[in-house]
Amino acid sequence: MTQNPPPWHALDGEAVLVRLDARREGLTSEEAARRRARFGVNALPAPRQRGPLMRFLLQFHDLLIYVLLASAGVTAFMGHWVDTGVILGVVVINALIGFIQEGKAKAALEAIRGLLSPRAQVLRDGRRQEVDAAELVPGDIIFLAAGDRVPADVRLLSVKGLRVDEALLTGESMPVDKQVAAVGADAPLIDRSTMAWSGTLVTSGQGMGVVVATGALSEIGRISELLADVAPLETPLLRRMAQFGRWLTVLILTIAGATFAYGTLLKGFSASEMFLVAVGLAVAAIPEGLPAIITITLAVGVQAMAKRNAIVRRLPAVEALGAVTVIVSDKTGTLTRNEMTVQVLLTAERSLEVTGVGYAPEGCFQADGKEVLPEAEPLLIEVARLSALCNDASLHREGDEWRLSGDPTEGALLTLAMKVGLDPGFEAEAWPRTDVIPFESEHRFMATLHHDHAGHGVIYLKGAPERILALCHWQWTPTGPRPLDAQRWHSAMARVAARGMRLLALAMKPAAPGQRELRFQDVEDGGFTLLAVAGLTDPPREEARRAVAACLAAGIRVSMITGDHALTARAIGNQLGLRPDGEVRVLAGSEIDALDDAGLRQTVRETEVFARASPEHKLRLVQAFQANGEVVAMTGDGVNDAPALKRADVGVAMGRKGTEAAKEAAEIVLADDNFATIASAVEEGRTIYDNIRKAIVFILPTNGGQAGVLVAAVLLGLDVLPITPVQILWVNMVTSVTLALALAFEPAEPDIMQRPPRNPREPVLSTFMLWRVAFVSVLLVGASLGLFLWELARATPVEVARTAAVNLLMVGEAFYLLNCRRLLRPVPPWQAFTGNRWIAVSVGVLLLLQLAFTYAPVMQRLFHTAPLDVPAWSRILLFGLAVLVLVELEKKVVRLGSQLKALMKKR
Ligand code: ADP
Ligand code: MG
Repeated sequence: MTQNPPPWHALDGEAVLVRLDARREGLTSEEAARRRARFGVNALPAPRQRGPLMRFLLQFHDLLIYVLLASAGVTAFMGHWVDTGVILGVVVINALIGFIQEGKAKAALEAIRGLLSPRAQVLRDGRRQEVDAAELVPGDIIFLAAGDRVPADVRLLSVKGLRVDEALLTGESMPVDKQVAAVGADAPLIDRSTMAWSGTLVTSGQGMGVVVATGALSEIGRISELLADVAPLETPLLRRMAQFGRWLTVLILTIAGATFAYGTLLKGFSASEMFLVAVGLAVAAIPEGLPAIITITLAVGVQAMAKRNAIVRRLPAVEALGAVTVIVSDKTGTLTRNEMTVQVLLTAERSLEVTGVGYAPEGCFQADGKEVLPEAEPLLIEVARLSALCNDASLHREGDEWRLSGDPTEGALLTLAMKVGLDPGFEAEAWPRTDVIPFESEHRFMATLHHDHAGHGVIYLKGAPERILALCHWQWTPTGPRPLDAQRWHSAMARVAARGMRLLALAMKPAAPGQRELRFQDVEDGGFTLLAVAGLTDPPREEARRAVAACLAAGIRVSMITGDHALTARAIGNQLGLRPDGEVRVLAGSEIDALDDAGLRQTVRETEVFARASPEHKLRLVQAFQANGEVVAMTGDGVNDAPALKRADVGVAMGRKGTEAAKEAAEIVLADDNFATIASAVEEGRTIYDNIRKAIVFILPTNGGQAGVLVAAVLLGLDVLPITPVQILWVNMVTSVTLALALAFEPAEPDIMQRPPRNPREPVLSTFMLWRVAFVSVLLVGASLGLFLWELARATPVEVARTAAVNLLMVGEAFYLLNCRRLLRPVPPWQAFTGNRWIAVSVGVLLLLQLAFTYAPVMQRLFHTAPLDVPAWSRILLFGLAVLVLVELEKKVVRLGSQLKALMKKR
C-alpha cells in the first residue's frame, strides 16, 4: 500500500491488463473472490459518526434539562434531598428515553439507506452480469452506460461517446470526454481522459474498462473526508415544530415566572415552595417529547413504506407524499407489465399474427387463421436476423422458464427470431457487430453495423415507426425492393396501435465493406428498406388498474407519459381507466412543443396521456402542473429524467431499470418499479401525517392539563397544592414513556384514500386542533382539581386526595389516547384496543406504573402517595369514561358542523 500505483492513465490498455494480470474476457469468479480477500470490499470507509457516549451526553443539551438541573441544585441547597433525587432521576430517565428513541429512528433510516446499494455491470466467467458494486476487484472488466455512477477507478479500454461529470472530484461542472489512448504520465487528474473515477457520473455514451483501484484506494477514497455528510434528520414539519416548540418554551417559562411572582408576592406562598411549583409547571407544560415522537412516527412510516417497496431517500418527501394531487407516471414497465411479446408482424403485403406468450420461443405464424411456415416466407428469415442482431438483450433458460436480461422490447424480438427458427448465437458469429448506436428515448431508434466474414456490410435499424419510415425509401417484397407506400403502412399500423400494442419498425441497408464506424449521419442519410413493423403487446398491470382507481378515489389525478405511439398510449390509458368518465385525452410530444407555457398550463388540466414524449417534456410538464398549484409526483428512470425528478415535489425513480442518476435525483425509489407502489406510498404518507397530527393533538392537552392544575391552584390561592411538583414530574415522565409513543404505530384510517389530498399550505395546528387542545386541557384540569377539592371537603387526608388527583389525570389521559386513535371519526368501543397492539401495551404499562406509584412503599415515601380504596378508583374510572364519551361527542358535533358548512356552500 505504501508503493505508489503505476500511472494507469499513461500506460496503454494492454499494458494495464498485463500489470493487473487481467484479460478482456474478465476474471473468473474464483479469481475475483481471491482478489476480494486481498483488496477488501469496494466500499469507502464509513464516515465518522458520533459515538454512543457522545449521543447520550448530547441528550442533556436541552433547555428543559438545564432548568431541571438548576432546580436539582437549588433543592439540594435547600436540603430537600428527596426532591433532588427525584428530579435527577427524571433527568437521567429522560435522557435515556431520548437516547433510545433517537437510536431507533436512526437505525430505521440507516437500514433503508442500505437497500439502495449501487450495482455494476461486470464481465465474469465470460458472461456479462450485474453485481453489487461492493464486489468489484482490481482486474474486473466493467461496463459503463449513461446514468451510471462509476463504481471504481477504471482504466478505459473502449469508449463510445463517453462523457463523465467529474464535479465531485475536480469541481469542474462540464462533463469531460473520455478516450482510450494513453496520456502523459504527469497529466493532472482532470486531463487523465483515459480514466473514469469512482463516484463520478456518466452523462452520456458507453464505455468498457478494467478496474484499477477500489474502495479506499480509489481517488475518491483518498479524499473521503468529503463524504462525511449524512443526510440530516430534518423535514419542513420538524423544523416548524421545533420553531413552535421554542416559541412555546419561552411562553411557558414566562408563565412559570409570572406564577412564581404571583404566588410569592400576592398569595403568600413561600419562595422555596413556589420555586418548585414553577419548575414543575415548566416541565409539565413543555412538550419536550414531541420532536422525538414526530421523528419516530416518520421513521416507523418510512420503514412501513420500505416493506411495501417504496424506499424513501429524503425524509421531507414523506410529507409531500401525503399532499400529492397529481401523479405523472411512465407507462412502460410501471403501469404495464413490461413483458413484451411480438403478436403482429406487418409486412408490405399482409399482416401476420404470431402465437405464443412470454419469452418462450414456442409459437407459430398465421395469416387469416392459416399457419404460415417460415420457410415459405423468406422475409421472416431477414426479420429474424435483424431481430437477433440489432439487439442487446439475452435470453437464457432456467428450468422451464426463459429469463431475460436486458430490455423487454428486445427480449421479445429474440423470442421472435427463435420462433422463426434462428439461433441468435450462431447469427452473431456469422455477422459480427462492428459498431452500434444504442437506443435512447430521445432519438427512438437503435442501429447496428455488421460484416460477415466475406466482408459484406449491413446496417440494421429498428425503432419508432415515425422515425424509421421517414428514413426508408423502399419496402421489402418477395420480388425485391419497391418504393415505400407510407400511406398503406400508416393505416395498417393505426389498427395495431389501437389494440394497445407498441409498434417497432425494422429496416436495413447495405454498408460498405470498409466501414468500421456507425455515425448518426449514416442513419440520417436514409435509403433504408423497410422489412416489417412489429406489434408488441404489453398488458397493463392488474394491480396498476386498481391503484389508479384508488388514486382517483383519493382525489389524485393520474397522468401517463410514454414514448409510444399516441394510439397505443390511448388504448392502454383507457384500459387503465385513467379517465373514468370517458375516453382519455391524449397530447403528443410535438403538440407539447407547439404550446407556450400558458397554453400548456391550460392543456394539462384536460389531458391524461402524454404520448411520443421524451425526457425534456417531463420537466415542462412538471412545471405546468406546479404552476396550476398541483403537488406533483413524477416517475423516471433515465439520466435525462433527473431534472424533472428534482423539480417534482416527489421524484420517484425506478429501482430496477432506473439509472443511478435518476435514483440520486429522486426522493423515492420503487424497488419493484410498480405504479401500485406509488399509490401505497401515498397512503403511507397520508397515514404518517395523520399520526403526527394525532400525536400532537394528544400530547399538547396532556401537557396543558398537567401544568394547568398547578396554575389553577396558585391562581385560586389554594393552601395545599392538588398535585405536588415532584408528582407532576412523575406524571410527565410516565406519559412520555408510555402513551404518546403508541400513536406512531397507528394503522391508516379506513377512509384514508377516500379523502381529498391535504392542502400543503394548511398549518400543522389547525383551528380545530387548537380547540381540541383547549377543550381536553380544561376537562383534565377541572376534573383533577374538582376531585381533589371534593375529597378534601370529605376530610380525606391530603396524601390520599393528591394520589387520587394524579391517578385521575393519568386515567383521563389513557382514555383520551383511545379518542386520539381517530382524529375526527368515531372510535367504536369494540375497536378501542384492536389494530395497534402498542395501545394496549402502553396503557398496561401505565396501569402498572400507577399501581406501583400508589401502593409501593418506596414510591409512597418518595412521592408522598397513599393507597386508594375501591370507591375512589371507581370515581376515577368513571371520569376516564366521561372523557372518552365527551370527546366522542365533540367529534360528532364537529363533523356535523363541517357537513353543515359543506351544505351551505353548495346552496
Ligand atoms: P416508454 O417511455 O413508453 O418506455 P420509449 O421511449 O422507451 O417509451 O420507446 C418509445 C418508442 O421507441 C417505442 O414505441 C418503440 O417504437 C421504440 N423503442 C423502444 N425500445 C426500443 C429499442 N430497444 N430499440 C429500438 N426502438 C425501441
Ligand atoms: Mg422504455
